[in-house]
Amino acid sequence: MKERIKLIKGNIVDQEVDAIVNAANSSLSGGGGVDGAIHRAGGPSIDEECRIIREKQGGCPTGHAVITGAGNLKAKYVIHAVGPIWRGGNHNEDNLLASAYIESLKLADEYNVKTIAFPSISTGAYGFPVERAAKIALRVVSDYLEGSNIKEVRFILFSDKDYEVYSKAYEELE
Ligand code: ADP
Repeated sequence: MKERIKLIKGNIVDQEVDAIVNAANSSLSGGGGVDGAIHRAGGPSIDEECRIIREKQGGCPTGHAVITGAGNLKAKYVIHAVGPIWRGGNHNEDNLLASAYIESLKLADEYNVKTIAFPSISTGAYGFPVERAAKIALRVVSDYLEGSNIKEVRFILFSDKDYEVYSKAYEELE
């Protein structure tokens, strides 16, 4: 289902989609990078909803995702996905990264989301090598879409380099 995947160079907060995915941390407590950008653009209601989830379930484990409204963003929802911190590659990082994408997509289907935008989860502050992450992300999303009602998945790449890396991985995707 790679034809339902689009690669875009840009800023995820500008995307007009039903749901925007945030690369969150497991305490849902806000950080820099894409998380900071989403909370700044979306306003305080997103943080408030994260706080309520935190109080209810103590955050979000690595490889999982939670959903909130999107405040001032054009989207309806923000899906907060927690990717793994890179620790050399032998600590289940690949599976945890795949899981962060899959759990986000499951939530999206549950909420009847038709269009969704992902950042490159874990490849910023969390240090996951982007070439390896791109292959995993595109493979799991493409496979997941076979059994999903989601019409379009966008990967929003923030740098030229990341865009190139994802483009190459996309070409190599069967
Ligand atoms: P993580 O902690 O999961 O690594 P980061 O936010 O540090 O998350 O980085 C994930 C990716 O998101 C990086 O490639 C970073 O360059 C990118 N990024 C940062 N800001 C934005 C943004 N506004 N839109 C899209 N991607 C962004």
